Amino acid sequence: MVKDSPKPFRVALISTGGTIEKTYDELHGVLTNEVSVLEVMLARLELGGVLIERVTLMNKDSLEMTEADHRLIAETALHKAREFDGVIIVHGTDTMAVTGEAIYATQSKPRVPIILTGAMRPYELRTSDSMQNLVEALLAVQLAERGVYVAMHNRLLAFPGVRKDTEMGTFVKD
Ligand code: GLU
Repeated sequence: MVKDSPKPFRVALISTGGTIEKTYDELHGVLTNEVSVLEVMLARLELGGVLIERVTLMNKDSLEMTEADHRLIAETALHKAREFDGVIIVHGTDTMAVTGEAIYATQSKPRVPIILTGAMRPYELRTSDSMQNLVEALLAVQLAERGVYVAMHNRLLAFPGVRKDTEMGTFVKD
């Protein structure tokens, strides 16, 4: 770190899986949640002023998450919110709102912002939205007020009432 530089902004980055982390299994011809590509994505970014601690909780398609999984993610995020300057959760989009509402129901104003993000198209696809969403989450976590949010597709939406609009293929707030 540069001498006399201001204190870095400390982010806990919790990964749980979802499409953003899917890679192509060429032996079986399917996209799977087997290895995490988050490290590869982070290595491509200039992240001056931010210190990231990775918390690898699970690597699941969010449709396969159990109630206990959502609870574990929510509890971990709130726990990390007590120690860090901000929390980002990488999550499958199908049940991202379930986790977001679970966090909000436990604590509507956590000590620091908690930002959920993900992707509709895997990082491995040229048309992926994953890098955009990760960068938006990284910026939002440094700027947002305390609260629980989804950062995706050029929007920052605060819980409660955030949901995936499956027709529009993005997140909206009721
Ligand atoms: N069903 C997947 C999930 O929720 C795909 C949705 C996504 O991540 O965009 O993990």
